[in-house]
Amino acid sequence: MIYLGDQTDGLNAYSKEAVCWLGVKLKGRRGFNCGDSTCYPCNHSNIRSNIDQEFRDLFDDALIKEIIEAKPRRLLELNGELLTAFTIQHGKTTDDFRRNAKNLFLNSGYKVWFLTDENSGEKWNYRLARLLDKHTCTYCNREYTFVLRNPSGIGKGMVPQIDHWFAKTDYPLLAISFYNLIPSCGTCNTIKSSTNLNLIDHLHPYVDSNISSTYEFSYLPITNIDNRIILKNSSLFNSKGLDTVNALNLPLIYKGHSGKELQDLIDLRYKYSDNYLNILLEDTFGDLHISKEERYRLIFGIELDEENHHKRIFSKFKGDIISELLSIK
Ligand SMILES: [Zn+2]
Ligand SMILES: [Zn+2]
Repeated sequence: MIYLGDQTDGLNAYSKEAVCWLGVKLKGRRGFNCGDSTCYPCNHSNIRSNIDQEFRDLFDDALIKEIIEAKPRRLLELNGELLTAFTIQHGKTTDDFRRNAKNLFLNSGYKVWFLTDENSGEKWNYRLARLLDKHTCTYCNREYTFVLRNPSGIGKGMVPQIDHWFAKTDYPLLAISFYNLIPSCGTCNTIKSSTNLNLIDHLHPYVDSNISSTYEFSYLPITNIDNRIILKNSSLFNSKGLDTVNALNLPLIYKGHSGKELQDLIDLRYKYSDNYLNILLEDTFGDLHISKEERYRLIFGIELDEENHHKRIFSKFKGDIISELLSIK
């Protein structure tokens, strides 16, 4: 898993348009305007129909901004607070709340404004991915998530999928909240699907800066030529890291790499009379002054530093396995 950081610049760029879009959809152009004559939603978008007035009235300007910008813990609180206000103060049902939230935030917001609308520039999935500038899947680090489009703009390009950390089926209100949008590969997004993660048992890529070091890749020898990738906790006292990778199904996602990338590394360590892992790392470049980071990149195709893991696939997995193999005398 990759820590995504605060992404303040990305948040500001996203929020500038998302807040106005949401404001106009809730209140109409007469009821919401940021005052910027070049703002696309404030000058071109229209109020969303089929929303209960009581639902619109839940939101003032500050709350509209907060739903877009709040960190995960606060998002969850907001979801609870608004649901309570809507059902208790207005005598509405939970289903009414979900219907309104789904109509506005999911169907109009995420599916149309975010994924397909190019009126105010490029689609937001492309723009967000460019702003975040992470090159492999946040969850698995085993697929690249480049952002590339045909210069003509015709046809589909390459862009990460967006996973909703709080599943959009259960939390439609949070469908366009910045810190709920996690760039991921298609495999992880599909496998995670509507799996419910929570902040008590699981780590969040926008919350937990130590997310990558809370668990380790290791392996289990089944026979001399059959080894299995396993994941284990880094700490005896905290199982959150392992619980998170298990919830994301990383053991399954990595299973197919046991006979390939894992076996290659084990072969370098054991197949030949000498420990070729060591020889490769220590002797390949002779007297050339090549940094440890560069040696790992050139020999194994991975980034050694945690903050750069996102730039090369398998950095975390291979880094952990190589470290374990080197430590065995
Ligand atoms: Zn505006
Ligand atoms: Zn992935």
